[in-house]
Amino acid sequence: MILLTTSAHDLERAAEAIREGLLVAIPTETVYGLGADAWSKVALARVFEAKRRPSFDPLIVHVAEPDAADEVADVSVPYAATLAARFWPGPLTMVLPKRERVPDLATSGLPTVAVRCPAHTFARQIIRRSGVPVAAPSANPFGYLSPTRAEHVVAQLGDRVDFIVDGGRCPVGVESTVLDLSSDPPLVLRPGGLPVELIAEVIPGVRVFDRATTSPRAPGQLPSHYAPARPLYLVESARVSDARPSGRAAVLCFGTTSARAALDSGRWARVVDLSPGEDMVEAAAALFDILHELDAAGFDELWAERLPDDGLGLAVNDRLYKASVK
Ligand code: AMP
Ligand code: MG
Repeated sequence: MILLTTSAHDLERAAEAIREGLLVAIPTETVYGLGADAWSKVALARVFEAKRRPSFDPLIVHVAEPDAADEVADVSVPYAATLAARFWPGPLTMVLPKRERVPDLATSGLPTVAVRCPAHTFARQIIRRSGVPVAAPSANPFGYLSPTRAEHVVAQLGDRVDFIVDGGRCPVGVESTVLDLSSDPPLVLRPGGLPVELIAEVIPGVRVFDRATTSPRAPGQLPSHYAPARPLYLVESARVSDARPSGRAAVLCFGTTSARAALDSGRWARVVDLSPGEDMVEAAAALFDILHELDAAGFDELWAERLPDDGLGLAVNDRLYKASVK
């Protein structure tokens, strides 16, 4: 594996590698992606192999410009153009009818494809220079925490990728919101970096997939995913005082009030405040970063409290739930 910088020379090298069918981990505003030429079946197969990802889990195809989505998907379905104009580039993935040319491996044989135009300057430059749409799932082994720094990719997949572009920390820090526009009415399959409230301004009353009442259609909806190696227990918002950890335990709090209560209880070997000012954007950006750090630190247990269920809190709670012991 070769580590690249974001110099023009290195971005060109990354783009060239993608054109050659190699695997390149690239920074995006959500998390690091494991990029490969979406037109190449061989390159796509290597993505599944590197991630140990089951082939029933379809990939997100990334394009450098909103208009380029038309190459991979039918963007004429209701809402697609309006959403693209408003939220792309950005952390929104749209599931749309696929173009015939998109290999089945990218879509797990589904007639639909997930498409996104990321907002990250370097991601867009790499995709643009490569001249192809770039299929990129999160650059982590299947089921494990998503990477928000190049170091996470080095540690988790370093021996299975060809290049890693180090673009620093991912500013959004949680995966994109996945919206299925191929079903009527549209359905949010996975909450993520774009708050559902903003989608609802375009699609009034848009529904969100509910794991309590619906069976999963995509692995992003499996109840267990994005998990650390240590057991993680989830408690209700601001109920950290009820937690009874055993052994050396660390706790993730949201806001000064609960962090202070956790510290005062004397029960925790480490107390982390995801956002002292209770800012959900800040909490989302810190989430995976802190989980990686705590997971490596050798605690017996990790605990976390839920955030309020609105804005980016919905995405953070979804990831915490999937990372948790059920
Ligand atoms: P990742 O790239 O690791 O963030 O995961 C991509 C997720 O997007 C998958 O796990 C699915 O949940 C979702 N996805 C991708 N393509 C489709 C599709 N054609 N239909 C439904 N969901 C999809
Ligand atoms: Mg993933």
